[in-house]
Amino acid sequence: MIYAVANQKGGVGKTTTAVNLAACLAEAGASVLLVDVDPQANASGGLGVSGRDRPSIADVLLDGVPVEEAITATAVPNLDLVPSSPDLAGASVELPGREGRERLLARALAPARERYRYVFLDCPPSLDLLTVNALAAADRLIVPVQCEYYALEGLSRLMETVAAVQARVNPGLRVTGMLMTMHDARTRVSGEVIGEVRRHFPELAFRTVVPRNVRLAEAPSYGEPVIRYDPHCAGADAYFEAAKEVAARG
Ligand code: ADP
Ligand code: MG
Repeated sequence: MIYAVANQKGGVGKTTTAVNLAACLAEAGASVLLVDVDPQANASGGLGVSGRDRPSIADVLLDGVPVEEAITATAVPNLDLVPSSPDLAGASVELPGREGRERLLARALAPARERYRYVFLDCPPSLDLLTVNALAAADRLIVPVQCEYYALEGLSRLMETVAAVQARVNPGLRVTGMLMTMHDARTRVSGEVIGEVRRHFPELAFRTVVPRNVRLAEAPSYGEPVIRYDPHCAGADAYFEAAKEVAARG
């Protein structure tokens, strides 16, 4: 099953969610591949891998390098990575002119679908062709929603993009859910956002809410998912629970 983790807003917890859900499911014994589809390469860096000096998703998408050549193991058993690199920024210039431009990632990932139980796609903060490629390649979408003002702004445009991708290239795409992130119990707005998301998307809101937790923010600078950096912190607990929901929702 391929999961896209997307929201065109930056800084809402996409990368943190993709890295930590992938690591939790790998820790539980499933074979997992994380594909970094963001030129900023934060997911790669967060797992201690640089795509600058080795084949990356940019080579796969732009130069037709087989995805197997870009797959690298991480320090987490069962968790492999296709890193990104700044070269991927060229996709916004190069891909629009390509034949089948919305399905390049879907085609490239076909062999990975056979090899892994879960594939996670960490999307860039936009609705451009890279995100459309991720939605076209995915079976499921997970939307991180930051517990902050204007959290719901932009979600309707994301859902319109999902509908367009379903209609044109990927009728099988389904939304698994919205995962609320960076919840701060001390602020009123945080609780209000949770209430609002549950009201607007009663079926889609994850039961688990990820708290604001400094360990989650520190872990990437050590190149580790939180379950290895500090397995007993509140952030690790939350992503374990969220991973169980992902597995249960199927
Ligand atoms: P995105 O990929 O959507 O841009 P990130 O996952 O990179 O968002 O998160 C943005 C910033 O917030 C990063 O510095 C990250 O470490 C931090 N962060 C994400 N989730 C949490 C959390 N639950 N608690 C504290 N910091 C977080
Ligand atoms: Mg990111």
